[in-house]
Amino acid sequence: MGKPTGFMEYKREKGKEQSPINRIKNWNEYSSKLTDEALRKQGARCMDCGTPFCHMGIEIRNTTAGCPINNLIPEWNDLVYKGKWQEALERLQMTNNFPEFTGRVCPAPCEGSCTLAISDPAVSIKSIERTIIDKAFENGWVTPRIPNSRTGKKIAIIGSGPAGLASADDLNQAGHSVTVYERADRAGGLLMYGIPNMKLEKDIVERRVHLLQQEGIDFILNTEVGKDITAEELKSSYDAVILCIGAQKQRELHMDGSKSNGVHLAMDYLSSTTKSLLDSNFADGQFINTKGKDVIVIGGGDTGADCVATAIRQKCRSVVQFGKHPQLPNTRAEDNLWPTDPAVFKLEYAYEEASEQFGKDPREYLIQTTKIISDLEGNLKELHTVQMEKILGEDGFHYFKEIIGTEKVWSAQYLFVAIGFEGPEQTLADQFGVKIVNKKIAASTKDYATNVDGVFTAGDARKGQSLIVWAIKEGQDVAKKVDEYVMKQPVVL
Ligand SMILES: Cc1cc2nc3c(=O)[nH]c(=O)nc-3n(C[C@H](O)[C@H](O)[C@H](O)COP(=O)(O)OP(=O)(O)OC[C@H]3O[C@@H](n4cnc5c(N)ncnc54)[C@H](O)[C@@H]3O)c2cc1C
Ligand code: SF4
Repeated sequence: MGKPTGFMEYKREKGKEQSPINRIKNWNEYSSKLTDEALRKQGARCMDCGTPFCHMGIEIRNTTAGCPINNLIPEWNDLVYKGKWQEALERLQMTNNFPEFTGRVCPAPCEGSCTLAISDPAVSIKSIERTIIDKAFENGWVTPRIPNSRTGKKIAIIGSGPAGLASADDLNQAGHSVTVYERADRAGGLLMYGIPNMKLEKDIVERRVHLLQQEGIDFILNTEVGKDITAEELKSSYDAVILCIGAQKQRELHMDGSKSNGVHLAMDYLSSTTKSLLDSNFADGQFINTKGKDVIVIGGGDTGADCVATAIRQKCRSVVQFGKHPQLPNTRAEDNLWPTDPAVFKLEYAYEEASEQFGKDPREYLIQTTKIISDLEGNLKELHTVQMEKILGEDGFHYFKEIIGTEKVWSAQYLFVAIGFEGPEQTLADQFGVKIVNKKIAASTKDYATNVDGVFTAGDARKGQSLIVWAIKEGQDVAKKVDEYVMKQPVVL
């Protein structure tokens, strides 16, 4: 433990961020770094707890407590306090394949379960993690680790999101020959074509993919398994196949008017924006442009927030985000005690930006869309809504009830639907003959094996839509199980 009294001497610090009004002028990453001196103080705030809840990584009532990949947080906090950055990097790389992703966009459940957070703001764990890895890349400490020998075993991974990349990394390091199939034109899954550039710049993703290629992993892009190459071909050419295909089937809005021009699924909006930015800095016009328009986002979650921030950067005239649930409380509710992740009101980046740009938080709570109206040409014109109240029924369940007299009409030319995901696509599962149960490919964390011999699964496809850190964890775990499996099998020639 660096400084026993650090937690009493120093306060939590946040790096200086570009002001929202300036950062919405571009698509660059908006987060910022703390200075080395400020980070040393943050490291000194760590109390090196006997039971470090920050690193335990478990799920309590469907929320994450601590770091799912069990990052050795107190150890690197101490090393950063002492200025031993390279040693901190060694510790970080023991548990985290891609700290440059989590250090930027992980919601940091570790901080919610930091013991200091019981009485004070948590240690700045995520900023420390990010700086360790950024410094390592800047100083050339991250170099390709090419395995000394090969086992002769061949593994195909379908999908290059964080689960696919983490399993590819670990299996390659174990000496197996790994091929990753990806249907998109760039690798990274939602890291590339989901999370917007201002949260995670895409050269950060490409830098890691390039490193993995240098280490020996083969990436086959623009190739949809099930269409461009069959499941049978893969099964017969590889010793094992891992389905890391995500859970990107989007939930659609089923109501009159939802096919009007201007109504789009959130992911179509987000992915086309990123692709056009990367391909041509928007010169190709291959994106949905909300400039000068009124935008409504249905869905109160993070995907909806990313749509809000994207529309603001496109200079929309107005933006509103509809959510079904009430506003979160400012402090933990009685059933949301430490060390679970705090479900409290936050002014996320998109809402901070909207508040500055339009003078108002864009979120509308407890609101139900009742009608979508288009004009004679079929173009979206307006949404009709009603306010709801959440009431506790006699059976102990909560219900939503309309409040009469709260009907309202909203003008809109664009509507983005961000109401969640419905699991992996059925067609590929059918080709492999794997079972989907409750919108997830059926496999337990005991062995990550599907019902088909030699076919495994991990990430959102198995767990349901989650977080990058969970996808990395699943990728690591499936790699161990696949390694065990193939080492008992004869080599496929
Ligand atoms: C808009 C958005 C923002 C998010 N922001 C955050 C965030 O800030 N922080 C965070 O922690 N999490 C965030 N998430 C969640 C996180 O991105 C996912 O949990 C994570 O990416 C899941 O990883 P995965 O590898 O399982 O799947 P994915 O990242 O979904 O990757 C699956 C890949 O499989 C490919 N694929 C599918 N079928 C085939 C096929 N037949 N052939 C070839 N390739 C195929 C897809 O093209 C895709 O590239 C966000 C999610 C969304 C939608
Ligand atoms: S990966 Fe996420 S949970 Fe783990 S230490 Fe980093 S920010 Fe915290």
